[in-house]
Amino acid sequence: MSTPLEVLQRVFGYESFRGEQQAIIDTLVAGRDALVLMPTGGGKSLCYQIPSLLRPGTGVVVSPLIALMQDQVDALRELGVRAAYLNSSQDWQTAREVERQLLDGELDLLYVAPERLLTERCMELLGRTRIALFAIDEAHCVSQWGHDFRPEYLGLSRLHERWPDVPRIALTATATQVTREEIARRLSLEDAAQFVSSFDRPNILYRIVEKKEVKRQLLEFIREEHPGDSGIVYCLSRSRVEDMAAFLKQNGVPALPYHAGMDAALRAQHQACFLREEGLVMTATIAFGMGVNKPDVRFVAHVDLPKSVEGYYQETGRAGRDGEPATAWMAYGLQDVVQQRRMIDESNGDEQFKRRSGRQLDAMLGLCETVDCRRERLLAYFGQQIEPCGNCDTCLAPPESWDGTVAAQKLLSAIFRLWRERGQRYGAGHIIDILRGKHTPRVREHGHDTLSVFGVGADLSDQAWRGVLRQLLAKGLVTVDFEGHGTLMLTDDSRSVLKGEVTLMLRRESAAAGRPTRTRRQAAADAALAPKEQQRFETLRAWRAAVAREHGVPAYVIFHDSTLREVARRNPRSLQELAHVQGVGVRKLEAYGEALLECVA
Ligand code: ADP
Ligand code: ZN
Repeated sequence: MSTPLEVLQRVFGYESFRGEQQAIIDTLVAGRDALVLMPTGGGKSLCYQIPSLLRPGTGVVVSPLIALMQDQVDALRELGVRAAYLNSSQDWQTAREVERQLLDGELDLLYVAPERLLTERCMELLGRTRIALFAIDEAHCVSQWGHDFRPEYLGLSRLHERWPDVPRIALTATATQVTREEIARRLSLEDAAQFVSSFDRPNILYRIVEKKEVKRQLLEFIREEHPGDSGIVYCLSRSRVEDMAAFLKQNGVPALPYHAGMDAALRAQHQACFLREEGLVMTATIAFGMGVNKPDVRFVAHVDLPKSVEGYYQETGRAGRDGEPATAWMAYGLQDVVQQRRMIDESNGDEQFKRRSGRQLDAMLGLCETVDCRRERLLAYFGQQIEPCGNCDTCLAPPESWDGTVAAQKLLSAIFRLWRERGQRYGAGHIIDILRGKHTPRVREHGHDTLSVFGVGADLSDQAWRGVLRQLLAKGLVTVDFEGHGTLMLTDDSRSVLKGEVTLMLRRESAAAGRPTRTRRQAAADAALAPKEQQRFETLRAWRAAVAREHGVPAYVIFHDSTLREVARRNPRSLQELAHVQGVGVRKLEAYGEALLECVA
């Protein structure tokens, strides 16, 4: 019998295991259960694929997304692994054929949707075969608190009752302690060996910029830093998704919308385009993304503030799964804070729900306003400690922090004065006009140029004042009266600032924060190929595109960019040399080796 390492090298073409893969695989091969928390792109799939190949019988993989199963199965078949799936997208003849293969012991891996698996027919079918293991992917779908909750997942505890001796592995990229405990409890995995990897994704550059004109900022970001790259732009609402897609298209960036309000067929079509075509930007609500395992997404942009750090981390984690440099970019401003607070306030949830949502938002705002390393903050949220990373905006261009106590006092006083004129709605713009001493028609009409705070803030720019207000809102020192007219008002905590009992340190953007950073350019330069190599790379890509089209699969299923780049660089002359390239296993060498050598020759 082969060892896990031999399978890794022969079938998958990789040199060595990453992180805890080996230990996880050993656990399953020995017949024990495992609960695996690993960030997106960490390499979870191999943790159940290799034991399925090593143990007698078929590995049964529960996966929530039908669109995804097909790609996984295509990729495995390209590697020469006997894999198939059962889901509602198939006609019954195809399903019958898969069932026959399963019963005849012709499958190493079978992917099944949870609702399908739990049918009597399927349970009975599995009862007649030998099962190597159960893998429960995206296991956080059992969590009723998360936004990916799938009621069918709750039924998966039945697997253990029916097959107590078959090892199970649950996997997720969702990291908090609470979710982990909930998964263990609901899937009866309390006794499973737990593997918690570092959640760091070192190849992702985190950047959060101040929102000004977000469309223009997004366009500039894509043009300057990711021209021609695949990316995802997350928006809060459906209308914004449509609007962003149209705007990008008008400006020459190929983009498609995706949200739950679209017709299912069209949505599936857009998703397929995103997976198969290169250089497409998907503008989407958070309905898009779970299990989208496209490895070469080069950026994830948020044009609206996410509701929680957990959500933000999942979404940004979809960038750079192939380990190559990628960017998580977000634009965030005053309006986002107000909007999110309003959404919580107006939601139908009970008090407990509102409190929890409020805490999640506060953590997200803390990440946005921090003057420390973003990655350090992010990982601390998941209970992991690191040193400042050197690959986030605050590390690369540290923002200044300044004593904003006096400015805050001026702003709070102005808000207090206007609050007393109940019944009127004065927005942020008006309050800032008063502070800066502007004689606008509105200021004159209400006699606000006679207030004692009129003109006391002429020393700061409009934008600086917006920054102060945003941070006061983020810190809960100012709030919005949603029941009244949406007017700004003080909170219980404002008093100590007004009285001068606390010093308030605020964040000031550094001038460089909005620009492409050193590392990004450095990384791009590192990845760059010499002209001759670049030429080979392009030839290889063109060849790959043709093969992918012929096989009806995404290009990355044939070979990843990183593999083609390495081939271009090494310029191999023989199959033997080619076999040393990462991602070239036995089967792919056999199928494509000659063609690759021809391309580089
Ligand atoms: P996850 O499911 O955790 O997001 P995947 O299983 O899709 O991650 O793996 C991410 C990428 O890393 C894939 O392209 C996979 O082929 C690659 N990979 C996984 N393990 C290794 C390894 N040991 N060596 C090299 N590449 C690996
Ligand atoms: Zn950092």
